[in-house]
Amino acid sequence: MKVTKHIEKAKQTLFSFEILPPLKGTSIQSIYNSLDPLMEFNPPFIDVTYHREEYVYKKREDGLLERRSVRKRPGTVGICAAIMNKYQVDTVPHIICGGFSKEETENALIDLDFLGVDNVLVLRGDPIKNETYFTAEPDGHQFASELLGQVKEMNNGIYLDEDLKNSAPTDFCIGVAGYPEKHFEAPNMRSDIHFLKKKVEAGADYIVTQMFFDNQKYFDFVKLCRENDINIPIIPGLKPISTKKQLSLLPQRFYLNVPNPLVDEVLKCKENKDVRQVGVEWAKQQTKELIEFGAPCIHFYTMGKSDNVQQIVGSFV
Ligand SMILES: Cc1cc2nc3c(=O)[nH]c(=O)nc-3n(C[C@H](O)[C@H](O)[C@H](O)COP(=O)(O)OP(=O)(O)OC[C@H]3O[C@@H](n4cnc5c(N)ncnc54)[C@H](O)[C@@H]3O)c2cc1C
Repeated sequence: MKVTKHIEKAKQTLFSFEILPPLKGTSIQSIYNSLDPLMEFNPPFIDVTYHREEYVYKKREDGLLERRSVRKRPGTVGICAAIMNKYQVDTVPHIICGGFSKEETENALIDLDFLGVDNVLVLRGDPIKNETYFTAEPDGHQFASELLGQVKEMNNGIYLDEDLKNSAPTDFCIGVAGYPEKHFEAPNMRSDIHFLKKKVEAGADYIVTQMFFDNQKYFDFVKLCRENDINIPIIPGLKPISTKKQLSLLPQRFYLNVPNPLVDEVLKCKENKDVRQVGVEWAKQQTKELIEFGAPCIHFYTMGKSDNVQQIVGSFV
C-alpha cells in the first residue's frame, strides 16, 4: 500500500522505521534481529537505504596504491523483497541519482514494480566520499527532481524507448527528502524551499525530513512549507543519539545542530550505555511533542540496532 494511503487511513500518528543494508559479507539475519522487536508496533512501512560505491586504495605487491571501487552495503532491493515476504509489511527502497544512468534507473524501477513495491524515496545521493561536488553519470540525473520526473513518466506508462507501445504504467508513491536545518549545499533556506517545491510540483507525494534534535526546527520548517504552498505530508525523521562520538559525527555528517541541554546531558555520561539512555529520553520527549503537533508519522533512523527505538516507541504504543 502507498505511504500516503497509510497516512490517510491512520487515526493517530504512525511509527515507521529505516534500516541500512548490512555490510557486505554479513547475513540478512542481522536485519531480522533488528526488525523482529519492532514488528510488534505494526509499522506501516520500512525504508531501506541505498549506498552507492566508494573508492578504496589497496597497496599492491609492488608498493603502489591501486584505486578500487567497492559497494560496502549492497542489497537494498533484495532486503525489501525479503522484508515484504517475511513480515508482510510495505517497504520503501531509496533510489538515488548517483551512479545510475537513466537506463539503469528504469531497469531498477521495473524490478521494484515486479516485486510489488508501491513506494520509492527519491534522492540525489551525496557526493562520492572524498569528493566535494556531486557528479551525475553522463546519462544520469543531477537532481532528485529529475529522477522524480523519470518515475512520474513511468507512472504514466512512458519508458525511455519511445518505440515501446502500450507500456504498462507503474504506480509508485513518491517520497522526497526535506531539510529542517537546510541542505548543506543550499545557499539559504529560501533557495532550499524553492527547490523542495519544485520536487512537489514535479509530483512528490510526501516528504521525509533529515534527522533533527530540536523540534522547533521541524515546526518552523512545516510552517515555511505551508506558507510556500507545499501541502503534502511532512514526516519528521528522528534518530536517538547513542554514543558520545555522535555529538561531533552527526553535525559533521548531517549538518544539524544539537541543542545545549542535550549536549550537556551527553557530556555528563561516563559510558556510552548512559548516552544511549539519554538519547532514548530525549527522543521520547521529541516524539511526545511531535504527536501533540499532529505529525502524520514519525520515522526512526535505526542505524542497525533497534533496542533504543523499541524503548521509545514502546512507551507510546
Ligand atoms: C530522509 C532521507 C533519506 C536519505 N537516504 C539516503 C540514501 O538511502 N542513500 C543516499 O545516498 N543518501 C540518502 N540521503 C542523503 C541525500 O542523498 C543527500 O542529502 C543529498 O546530498 C541530497 O539529496 P536530495 O534528494 O535532497 O537532493 P536534491 O533535492 O536534488 O537537492 C540537492 C541540493 O541541490 C539543490 N537543488 C535542487 N534542485 C536544484 C536545481 N534544479 N538547481 C540548483 N540547485 C538545486 C537543493 O536545494 C539542495 O541543496 C537521505 C537523506 C534524507 C533526508
